[in-house]
This record gives sequence, C-alpha cells and structure tokens, in this order.
Amino acid sequence: MATIAFIGLGNMGGGMAMNLAKAGHAVRAFDLSPEALERARENGCATFDTVREAVQGVDAVVSMLPNGSIVENVYLNDVIGHAPASAILLDCSTIDVATARKVGEAAASAGYAMVDAPVSGGIAAANGGTLTFMVGGSDDAFARAEPILARMGKAVIHAGGAGAGQAAKICNNMLLGIHMIGTCEAFAMAQKLGLDPQTFYDISSVSSGQCWSMTSYCPVPGAGPSSPADNDYQPGFAAALMLKDLKLAMEAAETAGVKAEMGQRAREIYDAFVADGNAGVDFSGVIKTL
Ligand code: NAD
Repeated sequence: MATIAFIGLGNMGGGMAMNLAKAGHAVRAFDLSPEALERARENGCATFDTVREAVQGVDAVVSMLPNGSIVENVYLNDVIGHAPASAILLDCSTIDVATARKVGEAAASAGYAMVDAPVSGGIAAANGGTLTFMVGGSDDAFARAEPILARMGKAVIHAGGAGAGQAAKICNNMLLGIHMIGTCEAFAMAQKLGLDPQTFYDISSVSSGQCWSMTSYCPVPGAGPSSPADNDYQPGFAAALMLKDLKLAMEAAETAGVKAEMGQRAREIYDAFVADGNAGVDFSGVIKTL
C-alpha cells in the first residue's frame, strides 16, 4: 500500500480521500478548512498544517481543488520541489486546459510524472467510489496513476497527453449543458402543446430525441427515473458548477479557434440562471425559466 498526500478535502475530495484510506493507503491530508480536516481524521486520514508537510516522503500526491489558479499555486509553490521526485502527481480538479498543461510541464521539468485526471460524477459518486476519471499524461504516468484512481472510481480512461483529461471533461460537460437545455425546451413545449410529461417521456426516451439528460436525469418532476427534479431541484450538480465548466469550455473554444455556438448559448443561459439567484440549484432547474 502507498503513502498518499491528499490536498483539498471538500465535497468531492473528502469522500475520495476516505476511499483511499479505506483501501488501506496511508493518507496524509491537507485543506485550509478545519472542518474538512476534522472529517478527514474521522475517515482514517492523518492531517497536517501545510501542503509541504503533507507531501513529505509520499509515493503520490492527489489534489481536488476549486480552480486553476489555486492548483497552479499549490503545485508550483508547495508540491514541486517538496514532494519526493519519485512521487506521481494527480490533479483531479476541473481546471482550464492551459493551466493543466503549464503545471504538467513544470512538474515534468522538475522530474515528476504527473496526470490531469478530472472526474465525471458528483458527490454521491465521490463518496461511493464510483467516479469516472479521464486522464491526461504519458503512458508511464497513466500506468502509475491508474491503480490509485481505480480505488476512487469505476472507470479510468486514458484520454491522451498532458491536458487531454481536462479537454475531455469540458467537451463532455459542454455537451451535457447543451442537451440539458434542449431536453428542458422539449418538455416545456410538449406540455404547452397538451402532452402529459410522462407520455412524452415514454415516446421520446425510445425515439431519436433520447439523451442522458432525459433518461438518467429527467428535468421534469414525476417523469422518468428519480432525479433532482423530484427533490425540488436540490443538487445533484449545481448550476454554478455547470457554469464554471461552460466558461472553461468557451475559453478553450476561443483558444482553439472553434466556433461553438450552442456551447456559447448554453453558457449565456446558465450565466443568467446563476445570476438570478440559482447558483446552488440543480442545473436541471433551468427548466423553470423556460
Ligand atoms: P469544494 O469547494 O467543496 O472543495 C474544495 C476544497 O478545497 C475546500 O475544502 C477548500 O477549503 C479547499 N481548498 C481551497 N484552496 C485550498 C488550498 N490552497 N489548499 C488546500 N485546500 C484548499 O469543491 P468540490 O465540489 O469538492 O469540487 C472540487 C473540484 O471538483 C472542482 O474543481 C470542481 O469543479 C470539481 N468537480 C466537482 C463536482 C461536484 O459535483 N461537486 C463534480 C465534478 C467535478
């Protein structure tokens, strides 16, 4: 079993660190929040006062942090040059592709293997160890990261070189934002045209309009499988997080010179929804604005 530093023990990281400890790894945890550290201790992790202390003597460093500038600061100031050069570095946060590549290059030039390994799946999947990881990095780095990620997820997929995990994540979530809005529009229109929502569900879920937003996460209460719509749109996946991912996607589209008109429109719709006081509402709640 390995000794693993875990940095960022929030909604997602808390459960992920717990699963590494449950699997028998020695987890050295750090977060800025005393409450998060307390929960980590209850879940079998040792806690430390700084990142630099947490990464002493470890075989691996895993991070689950809010954004790219925090990831860059933590790695460039406190991980690279402080963790043993033999340690594998795994950043599981959702951040922009450019920062993921920059941090990966800084790690590589200091002799570390690193992967970007963002996740699909929310807090329940983090706690249950059923996340999907999309991984960017060399074949060798992936081979070393895979057994660690497998303890926290049900699927670990190598997407390509450094930054490819983040690229896969934002392309996937741009598509998710677009088909959720499309699904909401279809249900809203079906109702206005006099169709019962469950009847429309029964038809469309076995027809060509079928998609994940409909059959796994139906935005209408009482239709389809149980979803946040049945729980007054408690997240689930909060609208603020969908907006974060759409902003990252639009930055990447601009950098790559891609015309992503539907993604741009989805970003505008979630921008307005969040600005209207719905940051903590599930992203399927956008149906209420249609
Ligand atoms: P969160 O805000 O609950 O947790 C982030 C944690 O990082 C907090 O505990 C915070 O105290 C800590 N932190 C901030 N700065 C730090 C620093 N400098 N050093 C150490 N700790 C620091 O966020 P979350 O929901 O756990 O999300 C984490 C990441 O996972 C984000 O990048 C998010 O986009 C991504 N993600 C979240 C979900 C979800 O459903 N919540 C799903 C997929 C991906």
